[in-house]
Amino acid sequence: MMIERKVSKLYPSRRTRSNTERAARLGFVLALHIVLGVGIFLKPVATDWLGFAGGAVLLGMVGVNVGLHRYFSHKSFKTSRAFQFVLGILGALVFTDPIAFAGKHRLHHRHVDTALDVHGPQFGWYQSWIGSLADPGYSASEIRAQAPDLIKFPELLFLNRFGVLIALLLFTSLCFFFGLRFASISYLLPVVMSIHAAGIVNTLGHSWGYRNFASRDTSTNSWLAQIFSFGEGWHNNHHAFPTSAQCGFTLTEWDPVYWIIRALEATGLVWGVRAMPDKALVELMGDR
Ligand SMILES: [Zn+2]
Ligand SMILES: [Zn+2]
Repeated sequence: MMIERKVSKLYPSRRTRSNTERAARLGFVLALHIVLGVGIFLKPVATDWLGFAGGAVLLGMVGVNVGLHRYFSHKSFKTSRAFQFVLGILGALVFTDPIAFAGKHRLHHRHVDTALDVHGPQFGWYQSWIGSLADPGYSASEIRAQAPDLIKFPELLFLNRFGVLIALLLFTSLCFFFGLRFASISYLLPVVMSIHAAGIVNTLGHSWGYRNFASRDTSTNSWLAQIFSFGEGWHNNHHAFPTSAQCGFTLTEWDPVYWIIRALEATGLVWGVRAMPDKALVELMGDR
């Protein structure tokens, strides 16, 4: 179902990055695609694809979805400071970091569907997909101000400043030891897919799909976004209950990210996992 929007103001309501910085940020994203294209041109072999599978799980599912989204942005489970740092490094390897990601994402939840939304599709698919990477509409300090619980950790501030350098160092090392082809397929491909996965959720998750809950926003559950985002497609469930580590609420809403969180809990690395709230079950049962 298509969602009607209340806001149709042109983005950006605020410009917070100079033209040079916007161009540099877009150029960097473009460069990632070009280098990846060269890697694919070199005809990947089976070991490259094995590396890709590992990279997709570690970076896409654990780094972005478990770490950056469900832990750092929403604190849907608890963990030690050491494992928090591990999750932070995995997040930084996709060329962002816990403070920047959580700050922007909390702004999205706070201002969803308004002119102050960081990446709502009300500004057009380009802005929700890629444009917010060039200019999120908030300065870096405004974004940091949204994450007071994270900036108190010096190691997370370090990732905020130097995360991109760590990611570049890993890519360079992979190239040096295993060659450009392996580095591109096992590392850059999951990174680029993560960028587009976020774009798909930002766009489809607020424009196409079904709704379990009458949340005060345009969020939708989209199986298409679910497939391409490594498991973050049940966006209406998520907006209705953002602090739940579980985002798939029905039998057909499979949620592999939640399964990973439960597996981490079984190893003792995380605890205090928040499952689907009883309130959500009651509302869902009321519909059937
Ligand atoms: Zn959303
Ligand atoms: Zn969220």
